[in-house]
Amino acid sequence: MSNTNYSFFGAVEKSFDKAAGYTKWDKGLLNQIRACNAVYQMRFPIKRDDGSIEVIEAYRVQHSHHKTPCKGGIRFAAEVNQDEVMALAALMTYKCTIVDVPFGGAKGGIKIDPKKYSPFELEKITRRYTSELIKKKFIGPGTDVPAPDYGTGEREMSWIMDTYSAMHPGEIDAAGCVTGKPISQGGVRGRREATGLGVFFGLREVCNMPDVMGKLGLTTGVEGKKVIVQGLGNVGYHSAKFFQDAGSKIIALAEYEGAIWSDKGLDVDQVFQHRKKTGSILNFPGANNFAKSSDALEMECDILIPAALENVIDGENAPRVKAKIIGEAANGPLTPEADEVFTQKGILVVPDMYLNAGGVTVSYFEWLKNLSHVRYGRLEKRFTENLNTRILSQMEELSGKKVSDNERELIMHGPDEVDLVYSGLEETMINATREIMKTWREIPEIPDMRTAAYVVAINKVATAYAELGIFP
Ligand code: NAD
Repeated sequence: MSNTNYSFFGAVEKSFDKAAGYTKWDKGLLNQIRACNAVYQMRFPIKRDDGSIEVIEAYRVQHSHHKTPCKGGIRFAAEVNQDEVMALAALMTYKCTIVDVPFGGAKGGIKIDPKKYSPFELEKITRRYTSELIKKKFIGPGTDVPAPDYGTGEREMSWIMDTYSAMHPGEIDAAGCVTGKPISQGGVRGRREATGLGVFFGLREVCNMPDVMGKLGLTTGVEGKKVIVQGLGNVGYHSAKFFQDAGSKIIALAEYEGAIWSDKGLDVDQVFQHRKKTGSILNFPGANNFAKSSDALEMECDILIPAALENVIDGENAPRVKAKIIGEAANGPLTPEADEVFTQKGILVVPDMYLNAGGVTVSYFEWLKNLSHVRYGRLEKRFTENLNTRILSQMEELSGKKVSDNERELIMHGPDEVDLVYSGLEETMINATREIMKTWREIPEIPDMRTAAYVVAINKVATAYAELGIFP
């Protein structure tokens, strides 16, 4: 974002316009969809620990009110600016609509480097920001529901909820004003691994499509597929782990200090522990070091998953990438120039806009949990187990045969919260993948899956507007 001529929001508008050309919607309606509905720019003072006063710049953007509440993370970063927050809010609208999360897109940002502030200062900033949002009704379980993003996590979400609750005494749904909270504050089980699991479910569905795999010269299924993951953070670690558990071979892992590979496959947990112990991913027993970390992106593989940063593959290194499928787990890991190269080379790019939507999907489940005031599975778990026990014993009695202890446990198990969250996410990612691919098959002129995803998003938001009768 250092280039002042570059507009991130402008780039999102460009992708939108490209995709809109494959839809039938009226120009005025399309203009309404792509515009940011509300931008709140604020300045407020805080007293630093040394007694000095600092004026803080912050934003909350609600891109679309076609569904409410609005939803999107809050970022703490020195580079935050209005254009970036607007672009990220717009992407949230499209992301939510593709995965059928009934929210409009939003995003928040505070222009600070959180590493330069004490926890006490961060708490004051977060609570003051929340108060400013409350004053303008830019937060609330029915209006706008923030979540974590860069530089924020469960701790900040707790401060936000506490501030909101304190200023809304007696509001029974107050916990639904923010998601990404710790479990003890109304968070939901399965949220932490949700994005990585969503990446896995989305890519697995792509791999289960015989026509798509046929075009790429691959067999169907993820079993035995050679996978490379960049970034062993929250998203990368869990993506790699779920692929490994499903029988894929993790042949290379990259971190910022270096990358390693092994034809035999790497054990993700062991590599994670090795990095924790030695402070580096390099010199993992039985594996080879790459000369430099980015070399891992260029190794031959079936699926490459960039899960670290934006713009890691550009026009320069894209021609050397040998993966058949690229799963964008990170936000914006490919530049538009890299996209062009992959379209020409017939490499399938599964776009970030929906592939990393696991986090927001499970945030939606958290919000539903907060509004219903009951843990998922609490009411039905025991009932289901009793019923399954009866069905099983009847079947055993009638057949005269007994199932193994292991099978018995699996059949009888009633759903816990995490089981329901996982299965809700699985259903969501499968449906989203199928819908995007269906649109692409129906309009073969669409050049890539990213544009197909935008077309799906535009059609859904436009239908919602049209059926609302907002444009008589
Ligand atoms: P994270 O900070 O937990 O992990 C990022 C990892 O990438 C770190 O381990 C870091 O050391 C590593 N890394 C940094 N530079 C690197 C480099 N040059 N080469 C290799 N590795 C490098 O962050 P995260 O939450 O896992 O997010 C990763 C990406 O996924 C971001 O783009 C984020 O916007 C996106 N994303 C995250 C979520 C979520 O729920 N966490 C949801 C949607 C999208």
